[in-house]
Amino acid sequence: MPGTRATNPSYPYDVDHHEPGSVAATGRCSWHGWDGRTVESCSVEAVVSFQDSGGTWHSGCAEALVELVEQGAVEPLGQGA
Ligand SMILES: [Zn+2]
Repeated sequence: MPGTRATNPSYPYDVDHHEPGSVAATGRCSWHGWDGRTVESCSVEAVVSFQDSGGTWHSGCAEALVELVEQGAVEPLGQGA
């Protein structure tokens, strides 16, 4: 819905959420690799797994998590409920 913003839960990084062969499944940050940025720009370890508004799983590094929480896209890790 236009104008609405779903806040998705975030989860500790879990390889089982991600498609085999994807960047996320390698344990790296896919958030900084899919949105017009290069994977090389972010090669640090993923700490969080989350779904976007379309239900697609992404992995994120600590920096990605901070950005996403600031944007209201996901909940702070471990602070659901
Ligand atoms: Zn990243």
